[in-house]
Amino acid sequence: MEKKSYKNLEERVWNTDACSGCGACIAVCPADALYYREGDSHPVSFGYCKQETDNVPCGACYEVCPRVPEKSVTVDAIGDYLSLFGAKSTKDSPLYQSGGAVTAILAHGLENNLIDAVVTVTEDRWLKKPESTLITSTGEILSYAGSRYSWYTPVLSALKTAVLERKYRAVAVVGVPCAVSALRLMKESDNDLIQPYARAIRLIIGLFCTEIFDYHLFIEGMKEKMQAEPWDITRMDIKGGLIIEREGFIPEKIDLSSLSFCVRKGCHICRDFTAIDADISAGSMGTPDGYTTLIVRTPVGKGFLDSAVRAGSVILADNVSPDPIISHAKKKSEMNRLPQDTTRA
Ligand SMILES: Cc1cc2nc3c(=O)[nH]c(=O)nc-3n(C[C@H](O)[C@H](O)[C@H](O)COP(=O)(O)OP(=O)(O)OC[C@H]3O[C@@H](n4cnc5c(N)ncnc54)[C@H](O)[C@@H]3O)c2cc1C
Ligand code: SF4
Ligand code: SF4
Repeated sequence: MEKKSYKNLEERVWNTDACSGCGACIAVCPADALYYREGDSHPVSFGYCKQETDNVPCGACYEVCPRVPEKSVTVDAIGDYLSLFGAKSTKDSPLYQSGGAVTAILAHGLENNLIDAVVTVTEDRWLKKPESTLITSTGEILSYAGSRYSWYTPVLSALKTAVLERKYRAVAVVGVPCAVSALRLMKESDNDLIQPYARAIRLIIGLFCTEIFDYHLFIEGMKEKMQAEPWDITRMDIKGGLIIEREGFIPEKIDLSSLSFCVRKGCHICRDFTAIDADISAGSMGTPDGYTTLIVRTPVGKGFLDSAVRAGSVILADNVSPDPIISHAKKKSEMNRLPQDTTRA
């Protein structure tokens, strides 16, 4: 079959505002020819391409893109799973977004050499600026707990460093559903150029996601709506709206519809709320405050969670109600449905 190139991505994903900004194409391009220009909603090319310029078969970028129409997730509910739990870390921290179960599973994996690195999104806490980061110590994992609700960089860029530069062979990746789907495409690809990624990714943790904000527009929005600088914000959460906490103020809830101007373009056609391609999906919806909802989807996910529970790092509870999660997933899927969509699961 004829391999596709970045030209096909440009035509079918970049120029149609379908790009989610996951950065998978940038990570796997063997010529390092794709990059992200701050302010753009999709990657761009330096102009060189193995396939287009030298006629050498490649197709890597196209094969891992979750937004190529024939590969896009068109799910109507929460996908297949093995089990559903409320979970929390047994170590306390004010930084956890929900119950800290994601941090606890990753920290347990690093401490016990089940994984040798984690690719995740951290932030400059002063500017609230998100960053794709490679982490190898439990101390760092604990210090970067919490959710980043905006981005501007290719989220999976640290994956290239992990796999090709540092040559880690057991990498865990945390991502929102679009990034998770790209990771699953990498794992399932038979393209030789993608194989190093397929072999190195050991655990995929997906975070529930309704939408994500463009970093710069979001910061502008906070200044305009609340006269808040990024360093004034002490905590953010999405729970029936965006909750902003600041020192000396009572928490304020902003209606998400009033922030639609800063939602990234690619989110408007996203139909996956719960990261159906993950090994374990995690969110706050469906469990009481202080717990993380975990959807365990694969034997790999089950293995990591069981190990963390056996070691006493995570405790599980039978306190999940799936109904609000299913209902929200259906709402997102329906709202972002395109006329040509067909449903996958
Ligand atoms: C953009 C976004 C939107 C979300 N929307 C919802 C929602 O609508 N409903 C809902 O129930 N839950 C939502 N979540 C999930 C929720 O905020 C928590 O991440 C989840 O409950 C896990 O909590 P925890 O305490 O176990 O995670 P923690 O233990 O606090 O660990 C979180 C981990 O996620 C990593 N991380 C943070 N931000 C990102 C990011 N943008 N991309 C990749 N990795 C990241 C951190 O580095 C850390 O390793 C969203 C998360 C994000 C990032
Ligand atoms: S969705 Fe991801 S892989 Fe596809 S073009 Fe955008 S950044 Fe690249
Ligand atoms: S809504 Fe979330 S998962 Fe979907 S494209 Fe946007 S960031 Fe990605």
